[in-house]
Amino acid sequence: METEYTPTIGLEIHAELATKTKMFCSCANAPDETRPNAHVCPICMAHPGTLPTINREAVKHVLRVGVALGGKLATDYSEFDRKSYFYPDIPKGYQISQYEYPLVSGGELAGVEITRVHLEEDTARSSHTNGESLVDFNRAGVPLMELVTEPVIHDVATVGRFARELQRVLRALGASKANLEKGEMRVEANISVSKDDTLGTKVEVKNLNSFRSAERAVSFEIARQIEALKKGEKLFQETRGWEESTQKTFQQRLKEGSADYRYFPEPDLPKLVLKEIKDFTQEAVALTIPELPAQRRERYKQAYQLSDDAIEYIIDTADRSAFFENVAKSLDGDVGLISTATNYLVSDLAGWYAKNGGKEYENIQPASFAKLIRMLDSGNLSSRGAKDILALMAEKGSNPEDIAKEHGLLQTQDREALAQIVSAVLEEHAGVAEEFRSGKESVLQFLIGQCMKVSKGSGNPAVFKELLLGILTH
Ligand SMILES: [Zn+2]
Repeated sequence: METEYTPTIGLEIHAELATKTKMFCSCANAPDETRPNAHVCPICMAHPGTLPTINREAVKHVLRVGVALGGKLATDYSEFDRKSYFYPDIPKGYQISQYEYPLVSGGELAGVEITRVHLEEDTARSSHTNGESLVDFNRAGVPLMELVTEPVIHDVATVGRFARELQRVLRALGASKANLEKGEMRVEANISVSKDDTLGTKVEVKNLNSFRSAERAVSFEIARQIEALKKGEKLFQETRGWEESTQKTFQQRLKEGSADYRYFPEPDLPKLVLKEIKDFTQEAVALTIPELPAQRRERYKQAYQLSDDAIEYIIDTADRSAFFENVAKSLDGDVGLISTATNYLVSDLAGWYAKNGGKEYENIQPASFAKLIRMLDSGNLSSRGAKDILALMAEKGSNPEDIAKEHGLLQTQDREALAQIVSAVLEEHAGVAEEFRSGKESVLQFLIGQCMKVSKGSGNPAVFKELLLGILTH
């Protein structure tokens, strides 16, 4: 890409909050509901004369996100506003959102400055098929968090890094399931390019339903804008969509300015004076924040000396983190054993799931995995045997000891039995033993191999080596 133009990117990320009920009524917030319009009532259908009430749980989620990101909770008060626009999926003719007084201002994540985090309601879901347009209002009024960053991102990699890290934070807090492909988390990017310090014309790109789409769409849009400017074309302030099939952005509509929405304070809802609400002060919320991904990375590094790659793999999903934590606990925090366990976790077990699919750790118990690592460490298993057992554990569950016995993979610790095998092998291959004594040391490997073969893999090669050398060098 040309270096004379600098791209500038700001992100707007929406996340559906994990609450029991909708934002302003007592309908269930049921994202997995398949029956259309099963969770609607006069309030979320905007019948005249109905009144909204604020969902306390939703406010709490946004405040916790704000505190976790180092943001400041509204000190004076926060309020909801009406954002007016007409669309079939918005029955009121306006959306209740927040404009001038958001719940949270400021903060930082992955090196990106955050402008604000506010709370609003989701729209209904429209579908257009066979010339028919249908609207499902189950999603209408579901609590939606919107986070806006400052326009301070200048490269595509940071877009992906920020969005992935935010997903981890939302999940760590239990604020949202944040699956992009389900629309539980939605990324929009405002992109402009410029040759100097003044910002260029801003274009908004929507419909980014995976991290990869977000990165590709931003890359495409930067290149499109630079090419247009080079040709002397004018850019418009517009909203563009991302089309997965063509890997291109396309114009959806010219962008409205905020004046077009006629924002004004929602007269049916009270202002929220957070410092007067028990549990909603900055200090009270701070006490509820669990360990965040950044802190977890640091702890894994300090306590277990894990590599950066291993840490990123483990903290990527809640399932992996939980599995690792339980394994570490079963290994009594032993750094050496945990290091071995981590190697098997990020290479062999990860490789097994990559190849065979299926839900991670569905069959395998953390305690059994820890047991396998202990068996390996105490010489009861060869590393080959451990890998084979691990694959069977991932496939069928079961105990590593049972699998090892069933498949004859246990290495015997009985030195007397192993010494008998060594004697027998030396007798059978007396000529080879003679070669070793006359200086051809490379034949030792052959003799160890023969011992392993006679023991049907149950002997420990290190013990065989020791016993062989004991006899051959005396
Ligand atoms: Zn309702």
